Amino acid sequence: MVYVNVLPLRSVDRALTYTAPQPLQVGMLVHIRVRGRRTVGLVMKVSNCAPDADYALVSIEGSLYETPVVYEDNLALIQRVAGYYMCPLGTVLETALPAFLRIGKVFKKEFFLHATDITATFSSRAVQQAAMYCWLEQHPFVSEAEFRKNFPKGMIFLKRLIEKNYVERCEQPPLEAGSADTLLPLTNEQKKVFGKLRTALQAGQFSAHLLFGVTGSGKTELYHALTAEAKNLGLQTLYLVPEILLSAQALAKLKMRLSAYGIRVGLWHSRLSDGERMRVRQGALDGTVDVVLGTRSAVFLPFKRLGLVIVDEEHEPSYKQSETPRYHGRDLALYRARLNNAPCVLGSATPSVESWNEARCGHYALHTLAQRPSGQPLPKVFLADMRYEKPNFEGSFVLSALLREKLSACLDRGEQALLFLNRRGYAPYYYCPKCRVRLECPNCKSYLVFHKTDRTLRCHICDTRVTAYDRCPACNSPMRLSIGLGTQRIEACLKQLYKRARILRLDSDAASKENDWYEAVLERKYDILIGTQMVAKGLDFPHLTLVGVIQADLITAAEDFRSSERLFQLLVQVSGRAGRAERPGEVVLQTFSPDADWVGYALQHDTVGFLDRETALRKQHRYPPFRRMVRHLFRSFSEKTLRYVVDQWNGFLRKNVSEDVEIMGPAVPYINKAHRYWRMHLLYLTPHETSFLPQLQNLRQRFQMPSNVIDILDVDPTDFR
Ligand code: ADP
Ligand code: ZN
Ligand code: ZN
Repeated sequence: MVYVNVLPLRSVDRALTYTAPQPLQVGMLVHIRVRGRRTVGLVMKVSNCAPDADYALVSIEGSLYETPVVYEDNLALIQRVAGYYMCPLGTVLETALPAFLRIGKVFKKEFFLHATDITATFSSRAVQQAAMYCWLEQHPFVSEAEFRKNFPKGMIFLKRLIEKNYVERCEQPPLEAGSADTLLPLTNEQKKVFGKLRTALQAGQFSAHLLFGVTGSGKTELYHALTAEAKNLGLQTLYLVPEILLSAQALAKLKMRLSAYGIRVGLWHSRLSDGERMRVRQGALDGTVDVVLGTRSAVFLPFKRLGLVIVDEEHEPSYKQSETPRYHGRDLALYRARLNNAPCVLGSATPSVESWNEARCGHYALHTLAQRPSGQPLPKVFLADMRYEKPNFEGSFVLSALLREKLSACLDRGEQALLFLNRRGYAPYYYCPKCRVRLECPNCKSYLVFHKTDRTLRCHICDTRVTAYDRCPACNSPMRLSIGLGTQRIEACLKQLYKRARILRLDSDAASKENDWYEAVLERKYDILIGTQMVAKGLDFPHLTLVGVIQADLITAAEDFRSSERLFQLLVQVSGRAGRAERPGEVVLQTFSPDADWVGYALQHDTVGFLDRETALRKQHRYPPFRRMVRHLFRSFSEKTLRYVVDQWNGFLRKNVSEDVEIMGPAVPYINKAHRYWRMHLLYLTPHETSFLPQLQNLRQRFQMPSNVIDILDVDPTDFR
């Protein structure tokens, strides 16, 4: 008999002790009873000596699988998530383990059949065997299930064929063998970067790399070459991509490219079936998958020999999970790489300020790709100053004269255009049409958002409020309220102007229903695409030569200190969609704030300039990454209770927390009510997260939170709505 510590897969932190009749391994899933209820738990520790418990130990009720489902590196990662993101270990386990594992689902192993090269000879009596052999020859690597469908009574004959070595039964069909010459010869610039990354790969140690390359400079190509190199060294690759609308298509494309190099790819994303998940997971574990290409939760997968971690588009906000555990996929990828002694490559055309700062400090190696192998220059960016435009459609500013002119020319050339609408976290705001004054919170530099009910301008971070002005404080002209455009409105305007153009609205039902719209665009069945941030990334259409950005302004209420960064990233990404093939691209930015500092950088494609300035600003205001931020969100059905409890907590915290912690709020976030819950939040900024996080957790445990108020801690928050 052994004693095991088992962690129930629930929102609890403590493991419970049980006995087990047979030896168990750490990381196995077992059935246990907790307060009479049957549940599943993870074995955290196995020991031969009895613990000195003053209660009678009960036995586990059996194990779900014969082998562990979590290994040492995974367990360390899971513990890290629980500790850093302040959430129960059991909850992290729920996220880290696919649902089918947690219920102990078993899958039948699938086999594939193929006729071997041996020249088979059959006696005249073995007609059936001969027929089946012939069929198998015509269907290489057919699955056994498929065979059975065709020959319902054929299993007995199949057995003979296998015994004679005429047919082989294997667990995995080989990939369509690509030859090495499909690897593009790298350019000199790429070669230099590749050489350095290969050295890091060969070192078999953790190292962090920021691959900063303009759109179309061959970052993807380089990831592939690296993955192939890792494979040569007998190492597996974890290749993370952000969750985006296009994910399925983009993933399939990436997979095709990798497969052509003879790399066995396992895809991992939310739309997989349990069976597919199981196969990828098993493949990663037994080493038959060379690379797992997937979205953020792939970071929790077990690998046989993980030797390389790639995070594509590392700046993407969607790497951060928006529900508990609120982990950041990029940050965990780095941690995972550290645990597995692997280099971690973060790639982007517009790195996050966080990663840029690490690179500037020398913590990450910085590799730059400044050229496009196609020789195609970056698209030329034009500015349309909307302050001097007349409304061109039903009283709103949709298309500037410049964009209309360029659009007509583009359509005349028979090329495609993308109109991009920036609507992320749109909130109405007041601005001065003359001197572009847009009111900032004097306290925390967030933008003030207009509230119709009481005509106030409010800060959603620190709760500063001012009465809305009628006239600009600087020049006395009447202030104007921005109203957001919708994609329908843009479509209506375009239909009026370009009667013959074929328009596809990417957020429309049409696009979601029409599965192959991507192909339809490639085949030039559409002339103009209209989309929002959802589609900015990953689009690669050779005939797309014009991009128009409809609202290139900081109109976001949701993101405060990251808003310029996000806007800049979007503009660069969306501009990168234009002119990817032979023809050069053009971009028109329509903005009401042509003097905003990011505009100049965008016009010049000066990402370095922008990032250095943005980093300096963050440093000056001591925003992340120069201090850690934690968002504390509270919600309740009762607004009164909520206010009271948040005030109580605020008072308690301020009295007990270390002095170097700055507390902002309490404030009402932009979304003040959701699903009948009222919402409030506080923000904490600390220079010392290692001491602050445990302190916060400790104080939170000491505070009696009434059961009708729910609170959530979000470490390194990216969303403040
Ligand atoms: P990124 O990921 O940086 O946007 P990609 O890797 O997708 O860039 O490359 C952009 C285009 O340039 C692709 O069509 C790719 O095939 C091509 N390309 C990349 N590297 C090379 C190379 N060394 N030689 C020729 N074409 C290349
Ligand atoms: Zn403020
Ligand atoms: Zn003014």
